[in-house]
Amino acid sequence: MDAPYARLEELEPGIARVLAHNPSAFTYYGTQSYLIGEREVAVIDPGPDLPEHIDALEKAIGGRPLVAIMCTHTHRDHSPAARPLAERTGAPIIGCAPLALETVGPRADASFDGDYAPDRVFEDGDELTVDGEAVTAVATPGHTSNHLCFAYRGALFSGDHVMGWSTTVVVPPDGDMADYMASLEKLRQRDDRTYYPAHGPAVTNPRQYVRHLVGHRMQREKQILSLVNDQTRDIPDIVANAYPALDPRLTVAAGGSVLAHLIDLERRGLVERRGEEWKAA
Ligand SMILES: [Zn+2]
Repeated sequence: MDAPYARLEELEPGIARVLAHNPSAFTYYGTQSYLIGEREVAVIDPGPDLPEHIDALEKAIGGRPLVAIMCTHTHRDHSPAARPLAERTGAPIIGCAPLALETVGPRADASFDGDYAPDRVFEDGDELTVDGEAVTAVATPGHTSNHLCFAYRGALFSGDHVMGWSTTVVVPPDGDMADYMASLEKLRQRDDRTYYPAHGPAVTNPRQYVRHLVGHRMQREKQILSLVNDQTRDIPDIVANAYPALDPRLTVAAGGSVLAHLIDLERRGLVERRGEEWKAA
């Protein structure tokens, strides 16, 4: 694919980007790692553990002091480069919490980076200073339970909570639709001027874009409710009806999102589960 892999792109003063070579149906052209600051810098979402990507990040840092390596969440396309970059530079890993993953049980999921070990965990509102200005954590659970966005100089690094190319995947048990919707509402209350997501182009109309995402999920919820109102259905049946012309690589993710909606609707007393089947309550 023709994309600016391993090249440092200046987006605005003090904000630059390096694209990792991990394109897929879930990552678009790949993970965008961001460099913030000028005289001193921090890296947001170092990305997958690919030596050429870590080389490109090291080159982009260019010997400037690296204040922190920050991760929005611990999916394998976001955090695995944190450790090798920390070893090369001596910088601390600061950001989202590690997830308590069991090798068996409800939370085990191959998409998580089980080796992630931060030096310091940020909670909502925690901040550090890069080049004289604050980077503030904004807790945004939903895509994952440990997801953080980072605010800096009026921009918001939105990770996978809000992406620039596609709606985000919310898959139980760690993904939670009610949390995701609450986290969208939280962003809607803010006045960030631009979002820089980990995948896809910058979002330059954040409020309008978030309103559109909320509307999209509410439409989807209505559609699922009406499907299980008609008759009792299992998830593959709901996916087949709700997502015509779906890229087959995304069938499992779509099923996860449907399940996330159903669990939320079940908690609200609107649907009931019978084994693998769901019906309106
Ligand atoms: Zn993710």
